[in-house]
Amino acid sequence: MSFTQFASQMFGVDKSKFKSWLWQMNNQIRDKKSCEKYFKLSPDEQEGFDKLNEIFNFGCSPYYAALIKKVEKESPKRAKSLRSQVLPHIQEAFDNEGVKDPLDEVLHSPVKEVVHLYPDRVAFCVAMLCSVYCRFCYRKRRDDEHIGLHYNRKIIANGVKYIAETPAIKDVLITGGDPFVASDEAIDYLLSQLRAIPHVEIIRFGTRVPVTMPYRITDDLCSVLKKYHPIWLNTHFNCVEELTDDACSSLKLLADAGIPIGNQSVLLKDVNDSYDAMKALCSKLIVNRVRPYYLFYPHLIAGTKHLRVPYKLGLDIIRKLRGKISGYAIPTYVIDTPSGKVPLYHNHILGEDKEDLLLEDLNQEIWREKKALKLS
Ligand code: SF4
Repeated sequence: MSFTQFASQMFGVDKSKFKSWLWQMNNQIRDKKSCEKYFKLSPDEQEGFDKLNEIFNFGCSPYYAALIKKVEKESPKRAKSLRSQVLPHIQEAFDNEGVKDPLDEVLHSPVKEVVHLYPDRVAFCVAMLCSVYCRFCYRKRRDDEHIGLHYNRKIIANGVKYIAETPAIKDVLITGGDPFVASDEAIDYLLSQLRAIPHVEIIRFGTRVPVTMPYRITDDLCSVLKKYHPIWLNTHFNCVEELTDDACSSLKLLADAGIPIGNQSVLLKDVNDSYDAMKALCSKLIVNRVRPYYLFYPHLIAGTKHLRVPYKLGLDIIRKLRGKISGYAIPTYVIDTPSGKVPLYHNHILGEDKEDLLLEDLNQEIWREKKALKLS
């Protein structure tokens, strides 16, 4: 049975309705009772739901719920990689170490929702809504804010004004929340405002909808985006199970619209914390014309400690990927800090021996390379 057949039966609707993104948003699963219609919750998840108002919003698109269910039928172990990303866990209530705003974004916002950290770039957080609320999200603090701030005209006007009055800004990242959880008209309006600013060269989107609600990527949306090139996009696949046929079709629409696509994964326990899991994910991303861009070591945000793994695991995964898959498929492993992204590298330089540079090669043997003795 195809995924769409399975999913539309699970929700008792026809396939075309299931594939409508508006139907998906209107039927987002929002509470324990609705969730129990589709899943047998573990005691930890049940208690997580009971503490929801102390932890983080819950919301899951029917699409992502059906994906969990379908994968679970084939392999409960593999489904864990999806389940732990969205279902609340009681541990979140006990993990009260960590900060709400790890990148000091509020401090770096000269006007509401414009984060100006790097001289030539801003993140413009226009969206409050998401199709799925990820348990590891580093913008959980926005949970406290009001839904009326989603694509709020006044916030957009003030943000556009700030960008227009700041000629150093060449690059605007539209993010949120998820900026594609909005009508084509709202996205078109925002892009028209930003494109009218002569010094804005690049406009980027950060969106998880190809992963969590791929039906949002439509021909009509791509026609809007194409009017405002150069448009770039980063999405956020964390495991290969998320690269379904429907997800891959949405990526094809974007790539065919001339939009370069990058992927930012977060290193997470039981999701992608092994060489095999990352190899499978990154290999399939490049086949779908998506460049694995960053692998983030996750911040310690309140409620996320149980999803973290030792940082050295990420170093080891990247070291093992080198030479095993195309360099295009290997993301840069980073920690995001308030002063920018700091790359974490395995050190292949072992030292120097007279005129030789001593390197650890990919078989973990020593390679001697003659040094240039002086600048030519
Ligand atoms: S889609 Fe992005 S912004 Fe929304 S909850 Fe997930 S990580 Fe956070």
